Amino acid sequence: MRIQIYGCRGSIPRPNPEMARYGGNTPCIEVVSASGHRIILDLGSGAYDLGNKVLGELLTNEKNDEHGNNERRSNAACSESTIKVEEERKLGGSILLTHTHWDHIQGLPFFVPLYLPQFEWTIYGPRGVAKSLQEILSGQMQHDYFPVRLGDMGSTTKYVGLSEDIEGGVWLDGRKNANNEQFTTSGENRNNPSTSLRVTTKYLNHTVLTLGYKLEEFMEIPQDLLLTPSKNRTKKRISLAYITDHEPYDHSLAGGGFISHNFNPDCLKNPSNNTFSGEPVNPLSKPDDTTFPTADQSHAKFIADVDVLIHDSQYYFSEYSQGSVPKESWGHSTVEYVVDVAFFSNVRRLLLFHHDPQRTDLQMDSLVEYARERARALEERYFGEGSNGRIRMKVDAAMEGDVYELDPLTLGWDDQGEYQDVVDDTMDEKSFDESDSKEKKTVLLGFFETDAETIYEVLKSSNHIEVKLLQSSNDILQYAKENEPSVVVLDQYVFGCSGLDICREIREMGEWGLQVPLLIVASSARNGNADSHLEMNDELLTAQALHVEDYIKEPYSPAYLLTRIQMSMLRIPLRWRRAPIPKCEAKRLEALKKTDLLDSDPEERFDRITRLAKTMFHVPITLVSLVDKQRQWFKSTCGLDAKETPRDHAFCAHAILQDDLLVVPDALQDDRFADNPLVSGGPKIRFYAGCPIKVPSEGDEKMAIGTMCIIDSKPRDLCEDERRALIDFGAMVEKEIADEQHRRRQNGGREHLE
Ligand SMILES: [Zn+2]
Ligand SMILES: [Zn+2]
Repeated sequence: MRIQIYGCRGSIPRPNPEMARYGGNTPCIEVVSASGHRIILDLGSGAYDLGNKVLGELLTNEKNDEHGNNERRSNAACSESTIKVEEERKLGGSILLTHTHWDHIQGLPFFVPLYLPQFEWTIYGPRGVAKSLQEILSGQMQHDYFPVRLGDMGSTTKYVGLSEDIEGGVWLDGRKNANNEQFTTSGENRNNPSTSLRVTTKYLNHTVLTLGYKLEEFMEIPQDLLLTPSKNRTKKRISLAYITDHEPYDHSLAGGGFISHNFNPDCLKNPSNNTFSGEPVNPLSKPDDTTFPTADQSHAKFIADVDVLIHDSQYYFSEYSQGSVPKESWGHSTVEYVVDVAFFSNVRRLLLFHHDPQRTDLQMDSLVEYARERARALEERYFGEGSNGRIRMKVDAAMEGDVYELDPLTLGWDDQGEYQDVVDDTMDEKSFDESDSKEKKTVLLGFFETDAETIYEVLKSSNHIEVKLLQSSNDILQYAKENEPSVVVLDQYVFGCSGLDICREIREMGEWGLQVPLLIVASSARNGNADSHLEMNDELLTAQALHVEDYIKEPYSPAYLLTRIQMSMLRIPLRWRRAPIPKCEAKRLEALKKTDLLDSDPEERFDRITRLAKTMFHVPITLVSLVDKQRQWFKSTCGLDAKETPRDHAFCAHAILQDDLLVVPDALQDDRFADNPLVSGGPKIRFYAGCPIKVPSEGDEKMAIGTMCIIDSKPRDLCEDERRALIDFGAMVEKEIADEQHRRRQNGGREHLE
């Protein structure tokens, strides 16, 4: 299968010098199967050049025939590495239109081979509800718009309206064998494989009826052509999915970052057409809904395991969700969604497509880089750094003129469901792994007041990061200008001026300065007093205007800052939110201190409760946790060795803000917790339920000082009875605390009297 891109721009042709590299033509792709069948995907303005090429081939063929000598054939016989055309190529082929928006059909009137009698074309497209495909196409060729009518075109043209058919599909050069198997038996000529080509369709989510196409080439390859001869490895499938224009049905998926409960990494080690079990699920769907896959799951299934996925990825999530004109509901995907769905669907190579008409080549480069970083982050997150031998998903953006040669001898799935991972250097030179080995990421820390030592040490210990620590504004600016670091983290004040002033100067340093993520860290010493409150608001507004990614106020844990820096480097939105500080924090801390529980010895009366809860709820971990100023400290733990964690990490810090229970059925699906180190690392929390523990304070107001909580490493939920039971456990802890305080008050009183 040979894929050539003739147009990949979305919406409108862009003959703009700043976009020349990725190309300005609207969608048109040529696919030629190993047996020589030509399929054209969409007829955007790119069809003009493709038409000329097809015409050129016709002329060469005619010339060759005159001389009674078909060079094409003799070439094919000599070729060892690539399977060439077996028989004389039929003139014409199949044209698959996704939908009839202008950008996908505007090249049709200018596709010259449609006018010549030597050609035979079948045009497929979504079967219209009101109008036939032919009617819609002839609409754009009415006399007011174009001088030639559709019916006057000289080629033999058939129109076929398609609906969704994700199982059966259409066999394009369908030479199925007598037993109706998808593989044909090998022909007499041992040098050539026999193939058959199937097209299946799936409705997409766009503003008009739109079809996505999957092309699968099934082939049987003669033993002696195989690189590693084996009796069983003779049948191959090579596949391409073409998905444009499409928006996730559930718009919340546009931000990406989803994974199912039942995602099984093992399925990726031994994948085949039928073992796809890594179904990304709609995070909003209830667990019992999984028997009825959502539209987005079904979309993921359709593209599962393909060798090449060409997918609409017109926008960044930021453009989709924010900005002066948000693009939600415009019928297009975000790069975040596409990378994630391709990754979890086990796609081999992703080509970003339908590029935004505003995106210049340089901006496209950073979009590709962003997508690769995201894919790499997923890879590392789910497979560890070595990826355990898993073949990496390659990510590129479609570029006009690019050719992808999928050689059945070295690539594709064999009939044992094993992926042939021979390196295909014929495909193109920009391989994923090369981009991997590029220079290290640098982080510039401009810290003066903040105690930077821990952060510096942690960052330095990573192999992938180079870190530079500077203290004065002059040094910082000079270093930034000369080295263009990947991320800049600045103190609210550095020696010489404020961090925001430095941000402003960096933003004026050209292309790099406009793009680089900036983070500000504000020390509590400055912001503790009430006077600075207004000043602080001004600062935040300035920070926003300068597109500072985050303004992080003390106290924060080093892990939080580190994750924040890493995420900025990857440009992934951080799915970990620190709990806000409660309104009466000072009073709350006072009430907590009065209990005298912090740093006290373990007590059987509390341990009895956590043990009982563990048995009752069948969970591995139960805790009585107290939320202190900068940490959560555990009065009683069952199933956990830790004595405390930073407050930033604490689910309980969120729970104390609630009036009743905080229940997190699946932390990975929750933007507040997905990137929390207690979720991504040990103890791998997936489920949390916490009941706030309240004690009386000055003036008898009740203050939540901590929680009674239960934790599981599997997602789950609580039924009504269990919720009530957890509230009862919370009440038991409260009673233990109250009793002790009461006893001490009495004792204290007596001691005082004596
Ligand atoms: Zn379009
Ligand atoms: Zn469209």
